[in-house]
Amino acid sequence: MSEAIKLFVEDARAVSIEAAAKILGLKFSGKRYEHPQPCPHCGGTDTFAFNTSKEKWNCRAGGVGGNDAIGMAAHCEGLDVKRRDGLLEACSIVLGRDIPDEGERESDEDRRARKQRLEERRVQNDAAFAERAASQDEFRERERNKARGIYQSLTALRTAAQMHGRFYLQRRCGGYPDATWLRVGADVTYWHGQDERGSPLALYSGPAMVAPFIMPDLVPIGCHITWIDLDRPPKFRPELSDPSTGELLPAKKMRGSKKGGLIPIAGHPDCSRWVGGEGIENGVAFGVWEGFRADTFYFAAGDLGNLAGPAEASSRFAHPTLKKVDAKGVARPVMVAGPVPKADQDADDAMWIGDHVKELVLLADGDSERVMTAAAMARARARHARLGRLIPIVWPRAGYDFSRMAVETGTE
Ligand SMILES: [Zn+2]
Repeated sequence: MSEAIKLFVEDARAVSIEAAAKILGLKFSGKRYEHPQPCPHCGGTDTFAFNTSKEKWNCRAGGVGGNDAIGMAAHCEGLDVKRRDGLLEACSIVLGRDIPDEGERESDEDRRARKQRLEERRVQNDAAFAERAASQDEFRERERNKARGIYQSLTALRTAAQMHGRFYLQRRCGGYPDATWLRVGADVTYWHGQDERGSPLALYSGPAMVAPFIMPDLVPIGCHITWIDLDRPPKFRPELSDPSTGELLPAKKMRGSKKGGLIPIAGHPDCSRWVGGEGIENGVAFGVWEGFRADTFYFAAGDLGNLAGPAEASSRFAHPTLKKVDAKGVARPVMVAGPVPKADQDADDAMWIGDHVKELVLLADGDSERVMTAAAMARARARHARLGRLIPIVWPRAGYDFSRMAVETGTE
């Protein structure tokens, strides 16, 4: 090898995985370092990945990987680095410059054949990707239709002959709203697991409160189901467990989509004052406490993630007191998702709030872990902040949530 060629190869060795990935036109996922995707050479789903922090790449389909840009470029472009012409061509790609004159190049014919193979592979990958996306859309649409079907077949909780919904909210929250958003059913099926043929299994059926997840056009995209057992205080929910593992199952379920949506409880989204938090019960209890104001829309986000949205990774912090024992037996502080919203987030990474909303009262969950909840509430406030919008955060008494406060107030 001439000096010029040696230098050329050394230069190529110095190219980072990240720089080479950009030159090769590889996809960067939303994640920070790890970027999975179909292999440009072998195809498949998430078969290929590169990591810009570990300076590594690998292809599960091809069973290869390494820690240099040259090898990654060679695999993506279908070059053999064990051959001198393949190695030099790969170096040329990551450096973005021609091989110095004294080096061997692949013949024009070989290059044409290789380019053609790659083009065919690219077309295959695109077609496979489009097909997967279409079947995912179809699946989501089917789930949304099922969720709409469950919700729309039921009657409004406040007027239904079926009294379980009203009794449940009366006992949990001290009252219920005079609105038609929340519905109730006498026999709502709890599906869990699958039989031998892969069909869903009906584990339980009973009375349940059902709420929609709606988007700004008020169309339901999903539903939230709470099964009710009035004989089981203090939560008044049935005890459900997995028949094979005995593991306790939540008595609440979501069907269809919730991402970006919200659960309406009382009032109309046109109101300029909105009040809500994570769960339906807290929103109802707070509404009962302030008498369901006519100028207010009461809502629930369904969970903390949908209320606050994702956190900026750099705002993660160590919990001041909570510790967890790691694999080496060392107690380390629990890391908490921080108060800063992630930059470049999608609109549906958290529930929607109408642009016209002037006052957004966020209800904190007092019986959840305090530090984590506080960080999430601060994040929700930052995310939903607009010029001229007030966003007070309301905390219940320590160790309580609003529904327990409402119940204890009612019985005093
Ligand atoms: Zn591959």
